[in-house]
Amino acid sequence: MHEVGIVESALEVIRREAHAHAATHVTRVVMRIGAISGVDVDALRFGFEACTPGSIAEGAEFEIESIPARAHCQDCATDFTVESGFIFQCPRCGAFSGDVRSGKELELSRLEFSTDSAPSSEHVR
Ligand SMILES: [Zn+2]
Repeated sequence: MHEVGIVESALEVIRREAHAHAATHVTRVVMRIGAISGVDVDALRFGFEACTPGSIAEGAEFEIESIPARAHCQDCATDFTVESGFIFQCPRCGAFSGDVRSGKELELSRLEFSTDSAPSSEHVR
């Protein structure tokens, strides 16, 4: 996956949201990244640093919320966390499950803006 592209599309949303809130600057950006989203978090941070100068998010704090991968076993109705890699094996009955419930997230979760008046924040989702 191309992390710079992710940052660029995130910046599109950030610009739009900032405009909608009449914000003059973005002070904090939080992204929710699932453990199996395929995103290299270091590359994403680097991409953010590289893409934001000159933009409305220049100097903004960039945070990543990591979401663990969880799957659901249909054989014994257990939800379990996938500890490593892409092997979704139920720890209770040993069945393999393709029913992934979380871990693929790749989205903006929170933005904080400053305006000429007072700082404000918003939950995007
Ligand atoms: Zn099971």
